[in-house]
Amino acid sequence: MDLRTATAPPNPTPLSPGKSVLHDVEQTQLAIELIGVGARLQVLESALSLPRVRLVRLYKELRGASPPRGMLPFSTDWFVTWRPNAHASMLLNAYRFMRDAGGLAGIRAVLSGYRVYREQLSVTGETAELSFTRAWTLVRFHENGMLQLERCRRCAGDYVVHAHGPRRHYVCGLCMPPARAGKGRKAAARRTVA
Ligand SMILES: [Zn+2]
Repeated sequence: MDLRTATAPPNPTPLSPGKSVLHDVEQTQLAIELIGVGARLQVLESALSLPRVRLVRLYKELRGASPPRGMLPFSTDWFVTWRPNAHASMLLNAYRFMRDAGGLAGIRAVLSGYRVYREQLSVTGETAELSFTRAWTLVRFHENGMLQLERCRRCAGDYVVHAHGPRRHYVCGLCMPPARAGKGRKAAARRTVA
């Protein structure tokens, strides 16, 4: 899937001169924050109404390098695989909280949700599975109805699943991990000791 074609930025609407300066400052500030958390150029182009040439210049100045080229290579499948799923679920819950309870919209809700996600990880010292660009992609898949949250019947947590999948009795990957995920290794270690 070519996300570039799916995310063509809307033409910026002309604003009155007074408004346009403020709008410009806001957008530039937001661009700086997004580049700071590692957003790719495609994300900036899609979420902001600043001209591409300005975004590229800002990016180079802040990161000290040209933005990487190429498409965003993610599919919905990645978000439902075992380890990424726990992270994706944490992120999507944080995003929805920012949107519904925090009253934030669009890219600002993604940014705030992502910060919450990173803060939660920093508490446990765990490595982030989701880059900001992946987080943004996940939210887009969710908003487009391709991924949704489903409640686990055992732990009552909400987890990312494919939309419209057959799931009458959903149990999450943490309550029922695949055989390869950690448990197998522990069991093998016990056998070795015994
Ligand atoms: Zn569960």
